[in-house]
Order: sequence, then structure tokens, then C-alpha cells
Amino acid sequence: MLEGAVVDTLAFADPPVGRDLPFEKQDLLRIVRADASGVVVSGAKTLCTGAPYADEIVVLTFPSSLGPLDARPKEQVVGFVLRPSTPGVSILCRQPLGGIPSLEGLDEIDAALIFDDVLIPPDRVLYAGEIETAKLCFQTVSTFDTQAFTRRLCVKYQALFGLGFLMADALGVRSLPAVWQVLADIGRHEATVRQLLQAAELQPAPAPLGEGVIADPLAVHLALQYAISHHAEALRSLELLGGQGLLLVPTQGDLAARETGPWVERFLKGPTLPAGPRARLMRLAAEIVGSRFASRQRLFEDYALGGLSAVTARLGRLFDPGAGVALIERFLGEDLT
Ligand SMILES: Cc1cc2nc3c(=O)[nH]c(=O)nc-3n(C[C@H](O)[C@H](O)[C@H](O)COP(=O)(O)OP(=O)(O)OC[C@H]3O[C@@H](n4cnc5c(N)ncnc54)[C@H](O)[C@@H]3O)c2cc1C
Repeated sequence: MLEGAVVDTLAFADPPVGRDLPFEKQDLLRIVRADASGVVVSGAKTLCTGAPYADEIVVLTFPSSLGPLDARPKEQVVGFVLRPSTPGVSILCRQPLGGIPSLEGLDEIDAALIFDDVLIPPDRVLYAGEIETAKLCFQTVSTFDTQAFTRRLCVKYQALFGLGFLMADALGVRSLPAVWQVLADIGRHEATVRQLLQAAELQPAPAPLGEGVIADPLAVHLALQYAISHHAEALRSLELLGGQGLLLVPTQGDLAARETGPWVERFLKGPTLPAGPRARLMRLAAEIVGSRFASRQRLFEDYALGGLSAVTARLGRLFDPGAGVALIERFLGEDLT
């Protein structure tokens, strides 16, 4: 599928080795020395998805709960583009999640990158201690990432709503008021994210570097923050809807076996579906709401853009207090800013 394409990935997350410690005491990626031959770095970045099969890895320093970029010692502010085969780089991959037949091939491998005195040649260095450039890279990456991430979440909500609708039919419960409430909740999330995203894309703003346009940042962040904060809730609703139907899911073997097949066909079919397609639908639902794959996906939505609190803080900074401040100032009859 990706033949001929350049696969790149981003590594900004720092190892969780004591967020409470001062920067100097944390074993973070840092510049060991810099001269005409380039910049030598040591330390680690975690977590980087796709590192083992990427052609290029963009390594950046991001603000995080560790603190803003300005708070970091300059030797910890370093950004570069790396080939995974560069001498001194090791990639520690997690085990595949496995055991999910219908999601075979969809497990993106997460990895830690270890740097042991790695020489980054000058033409691959984005910044080495220049905090303003680091901020600009962060702003650019996060600006474009946000819209793509939100669009993906929008499609995901669409799929979750479709899944809920099909599950309700397969279980023969669609007419129950409680089930309509669940479907309405998921549908509401899908429609809200879609409408906000459409509004964002209909009001383009100049891109941060002045080239091209981006979707309206406030509307995109509203869509994103809403999508992330309701994602786990939507999955929980589907889990409740599935109920016992998610637990006793017959295999193709159960269906084919002479001893069990007739019972499965009789008691584990749906009102509208034979037992086979119903089992495949419910297995997919179980994998999406309750497997290790599902747990990774939930964490991904929560943390891939830095965490809900980081996204919410970014949203907070986009609101313009001007009109409200003017009202208060007019009421009090004084200039307060
Ligand atoms: C599946 C997945 C794939 C990812 N892929 C990449 C990638 O390719 N490249 C990349 O750079 N990053 C990636 N990330 C993001 C990265 O790994 C970090 O999780 C993310 O940037 C958050 O940063 P942090 O770990 O420094 O968290 P921090 O914000 O520093 O939080 C540190 C810890 O504090 C606690 N904490 C924080 N907020 C809360 C809360 N609201 N409630 C309870 N405890 C809390 C948690 O224990 C958390 O782990 C991925 C994350 C996931 C889950």
C-alpha cells in the first residue's frame, strides 16, 4: 500500500523519568557537543509510533507538563530529521498487541528511541538551542496536525455511530428508549465534531509561516477538545449497548462444528442477521471497545496531541476576552487593561 511513499513519524515525547524533577536532573535528550561536523546528541525519546518502519523521523522538543520551552536548558532544546539507521540510534519496540484477527495488520508499533552519542550532520539539524525556532516548529506541526487529527476523529465517530446502529439491530433492541438514548449520544458527538470542523474549514486563516491557509484555529480546537473529551464516553456507551453480546461471541469453528453449530444458529443469531455475520459484527465491536488494541486507541486519542489538559489549555488561549472585558470596563467606567 505504501510502496514508493516516504514514511515519516514524529518523536517529541520525553521519557517518563520524573516529571517533578528539575530539568537538569532528568535524563532527557540533550546536545553533548556541537562543531562544524554537526550536533552530537544523547538520551531518549519515547514514545514514537512507526519508528521501526519509518524512512525519516522528525525529532522535536515540545512544551509539555515538563514546562514551557523557555524553561528548558538550551542543551535540551534540539530538533532534527533522522534516518533510523543512523549509527548510535537504537529502537526499542513494544510487543505486537496480537490476538485480534479482524484488525490484523493495523497495529502501529510504538517504540522508544535511544541515542548514544549520535552525530546529526548540519543539513539535518532544525535547531540546536534556538528556543524561538523550536517554538515555531512546535506551532507549525501542532497547527497542521490538529486539523488532520480532528478530521480522523470525526470519521471515527461516524464509524462508532454506525457500529452502534448495527449492534442495536443485531441484538434486536433498537426500539428500546434507553438504546435510542445511547445512539442519540454517540450521534450528537459525531454531529457536533463534524459541524465544528466544517465551520473551521469554511473560515480559513493564514498559516503560521505565512504560506497557504489553515482551518480556523478556534473552531478546530473546539472540535478537537470536544472529540477527545467524549471519546471514552462513546466507547463506554457502545460497551453497555453490547452487554452480554460482547462476551459470548461464537467463532467460525463453533458455527461449523456439528455439535455446537445448530445451537449457535438458533440462540446466537439476531432478529435480522444469521449467527455468522452477527458474530463477526459483535467481535469487531468487542475489539473496538474492550481489547488491548482498544485500550491503546483510547490512550492515543487522549495523549497523542499532548493530552487533554494540553489541548484544553491551547483552546483556552484561543478565546478572545476583548468583548467581555470591554463590557466590564464600561460597567465600571474604568480602563482595567
Ligand atoms: C498510542 C500513542 C501513540 C503516540 N505516538 C506518539 C508519537 O508517535 N510521537 C510522539 O512524540 N508522541 C506520541 N504519543 C504521545 C506521547 O507518548 C505522550 O503520551 C504525550 O505527549 C503526553 O506527554 P507525557 O507523557 O509527557 O505526558 P504528561 O502530560 O507529562 O503527563 C505525564 C503523566 O502524568 C499523568 N497525567 C497527566 N495528565 C493526567 C490526567 N488528566 N489524569 C491522570 N493522570 C494524568 C499521567 O501519568 C501521565 O502519563 C503517543 C501516545 C500514545 C498513547
